[in-house]
Amino acid sequence: MRVVVCVKHVPDIQSERTFREDGLLRRGGDDDTLNELDEDALEAGLRLVEAHPPAHGEDPHDVVVLTVGPASAVEALRRGLAMGATTAVHVRDDAVAGSDAIATARVLGAAVATLHEEAPVDVVVAGMAALDGLTSLVPAALAAVLGWPQLTLADRVDVDPAARTVVVRRETSAATETLRAALPVVLSVTDQAFRARFPAFTGILAARKAPVRVLDLAALGVDPATVGLDGSTTRVLHTAPRPERPDRVVVTDDGSAAVALADYLAQKGFA
Ligand SMILES: Cc1cc2nc3c(=O)[nH]c(=O)nc-3n(C[C@H](O)[C@H](O)[C@H](O)COP(=O)(O)OP(=O)(O)OC[C@H]3O[C@@H](n4cnc5c(N)ncnc54)[C@H](O)[C@@H]3O)c2cc1C
Repeated sequence: MRVVVCVKHVPDIQSERTFREDGLLRRGGDDDTLNELDEDALEAGLRLVEAHPPAHGEDPHDVVVLTVGPASAVEALRRGLAMGATTAVHVRDDAVAGSDAIATARVLGAAVATLHEEAPVDVVVAGMAALDGLTSLVPAALAAVLGWPQLTLADRVDVDPAARTVVVRRETSAATETLRAALPVVLSVTDQAFRARFPAFTGILAARKAPVRVLDLAALGVDPATVGLDGSTTRVLHTAPRPERPDRVVVTDDGSAAVALADYLAQKGFA
C-alpha cells in the first residue's frame, strides 16, 4: 500500500503571527512547526499501513510525507519521518510563495500525480485544517485536481486493499455518516480519533539524517504563472491586529481571584 500524507509547516499558534507588507503571513521563524492537525493525518496514515501488513513477498508499504513550502518546511517532513513515515518529498520553489488554497492544491496535485506515475498511490491523507490559513479548502481542491474521490473530516478509516475500497465514519451535528469510495482516494481526518504517537528517540535521530527528495515546479511540469501571488484568485488586501475587547477584565490572582470572578459573573448575569 502507498499512502501520501500532506503536511504543512505553520507558525506556532501560540506565537505572535505577523503579516508582511504584501499581506502574506511571515514564515520561517523559529516558532514555525508541523501543523498540529497534520500529526493526526500522519497517525491515520501510519495506522492504515499497520492494519494491513504486506503479505509474504509483497513490497513493503510506503508512507510518503509531502509538503509544499519554503526551505524551513523541511522540519515538518523530519517530524513526519520521526513518527514513522518512510519517504519525504518537499516541493520547494520561490514561485509558490503567496499561493492561495486552490493554487496550493494545484501544486500538491502535480506532486501526487508524479508520485502516482512512479508507483501507484492508494490513499492521500490530509489534516482537517492548517492552523494559519484555516480554510480547510485544500483536501477537496486536491481531490478535484486529481479527479479522485474525496472523503473529508473522517474520524474512522477502514481500507480494504483487496476490494480497492475505503469506508470512513464522519460525525456531524445531525448524524453519524458512513461513506465509501473506491481507491485511490483523498481523505481528511479530524483531531478526534488519531491521537498522534510520540516519535521514539531513535526515530528522531534517524529522521535527522534521512534523505528528503526536493522537487521544484519545473520537475512537476507546473507553470509558475498558475501559482503564487500572480496565479492565485484570492488576495489578502489588508490585515490589522484584532482590537482589544473593550470589556476585557484581567484578574491577577493575589488570593482575591475567586471573589473577583464571582463578582464578574454576577455582573454579567451568570450567577
Ligand atoms: C490568514 C490567512 C488567510 C487566508 N485565507 C485564504 C482564503 O480565504 N482563501 C484561500 O484560497 N487562501 C487563503 N489563505 C492562503 C492559504 O492559507 C494557503 O493557500 C495555504 O497554502 C492553503 O490553505 P490553508 O492554509 O487554509 O490550508 P487548509 O485547507 O486549511 O489545509 C488543510 C490540509 O491540507 C494540507 N495542506 C495545506 N497546505 C499545505 C501545504 N502547503 N503543503 C502540504 N499540505 C498542505 C494539510 O494536510 C492541511 O491539514 C490564507 C492564508 C492566511 C495566512
